[in-house]
Amino acid sequence: MPPPRTLDVAVVGSGPNGLAAAVLFARAGRSVAVYEAAAEPGGGARSARLFDADVVHDLCSAVHPMAVASPFFRLFDLEAHGVQLCRSEAEYAHPIDERRAAIAYADLERTCAGLGVDGARWRRFMTPLIERTEEVVETIFGDFRRPPRPGVAALLASRLVGIRAFRGTEARALLAGVAAHAMGRLPSLVGDGIGVLLGHLAHTSGWPVPRGGTEKITEALVADLRAHGGEVHTDARVADLRQLSHARVVMLDLAPQGVLDVAGPLLSDGYRRALQGVRYGPSAAKVDFLVSEPIPWRNPALAQAGTLHLGGTREAVYAAENAVTAGRRAEEPFVLLSQPMTADPSRGLPGKQPIWAYAHVPHGDPLDATDVIRRRIERYAPGFSDTVLASRAVSARELEAYNPNYVGGDIATAAVTVRQVLARPVVRWNPHQTPLRGVYLCSAATAPGPGVHGMCGYYAAKAALRREFGQTEPVF
Ligand SMILES: Cc1cc2nc3c(=O)[nH]c(=O)nc-3n(C[C@H](O)[C@H](O)[C@H](O)COP(=O)(O)OP(=O)(O)OC[C@H]3O[C@@H](n4cnc5c(N)ncnc54)[C@H](O)[C@@H]3O)c2cc1C
Repeated sequence: MPPPRTLDVAVVGSGPNGLAAAVLFARAGRSVAVYEAAAEPGGGARSARLFDADVVHDLCSAVHPMAVASPFFRLFDLEAHGVQLCRSEAEYAHPIDERRAAIAYADLERTCAGLGVDGARWRRFMTPLIERTEEVVETIFGDFRRPPRPGVAALLASRLVGIRAFRGTEARALLAGVAAHAMGRLPSLVGDGIGVLLGHLAHTSGWPVPRGGTEKITEALVADLRAHGGEVHTDARVADLRQLSHARVVMLDLAPQGVLDVAGPLLSDGYRRALQGVRYGPSAAKVDFLVSEPIPWRNPALAQAGTLHLGGTREAVYAAENAVTAGRRAEEPFVLLSQPMTADPSRGLPGKQPIWAYAHVPHGDPLDATDVIRRRIERYAPGFSDTVLASRAVSARELEAYNPNYVGGDIATAAVTVRQVLARPVVRWNPHQTPLRGVYLCSAATAPGPGVHGMCGYYAAKAALRREFGQTEPVF
């Protein structure tokens, strides 16, 4: 830790939410320093050349439908900060068996054409969402304290009913794959909500990847922060909140467990108990592959997709998700896979390419998922194993060691259940404010939840600017 000097704001943790908060303060003219435990800033938005200097792997987040749609990042303007968001020919795809696959394209009609009996239904379902995407995004990325604009609540409610009406294997699998991003029991309201949000974004702003890797988002935030006088200190783990007594305001980009670790004895009994009661969900077991050629998908349409959901039919996806949520390994776990070079050829070279994948596993599972994921890919792409030049597994437990916010490997920073969406992380009118004067939570454990969108940091910083500094004028 550097020697303390008087600061307006100290931010603990440099994930996208910590950095978003820091950017807001710096732009509002406040002195701000970010303290990051790791050697690099970025939290879940870091990349590395794991095996080869020419090949960039995203260590955590890889695909960015949330960043591109996020109201914070729209104000920040990622493109103006040099982040080029690249889309694939197909946004996401879902192989069902050895032959069949469902594909979501940006083009609604092209998507409908592949959905058989559900083509017209998909069009009817998505069209109103696409037409009102701004309001849908504003509502779902809200902090849940303001009612949605007139008509949007009814639209969303009707979609949550309509999402169960699909009849064909393809559309059902496609939506189940998106719902599985909730990492919890399925079917569920939360899974369906994610299906509505991410599903329709495929037909609007897309599921892009940043040219050069997810680290470009972090670099843009850090550069903007520094340009406005802010500082980032790495290798600077905060063990105790009292280390930050030189700052008037403290923003914690931490999981509830992290808050207990740094501030436990200072918290009121009620708030401490509430944080102790936060539930964590199933985990991700990550594997990065370096491959010699694009994945040899049996179905060539899959080669055009940036993201793939390997889960089979809707029933198979639900069964796998319900097993891991109940604490059991799934026989055939749900696997998320990104082949970033479909959108961004700069990530590697023709003979060496990155593949990013993770399997959903029970909370805290020590499993090395290399074989599980390899077998899952092989089913739809025989010969994949022969293309693997190198691989690296990070188990759920190791993920927590890499970033303490992922408690037991829960990459959502706290389970995404209805209760923990509406009161995230605990029941409070302002979920970002703690009972400690001047101390705020700004991580994905607060509303509106996980993902690289910066909205948790944005709301927390806005609340602190208003309450602690009396600043209400817009920062951007
Ligand atoms: C494998 C994986 C895949 C993912 N894929 C996607 C994806 O494709 N798209 C997407 O939108 N999201 C994805 N996510 C989720 C996304 O990365 C997170 O929701 C997001 O990074 C949360 O941001 P945050 O700022 O809340 O916290 P984090 O990004 O988790 O950052 C928290 C930071 O705080 C630091 N820290 C913790 N404790 C301390 C301490 N005591 N002192 C100092 N620093 C501390 C940590 O080192 C870390 O850098 C993925 C996550 C993982 C792990």
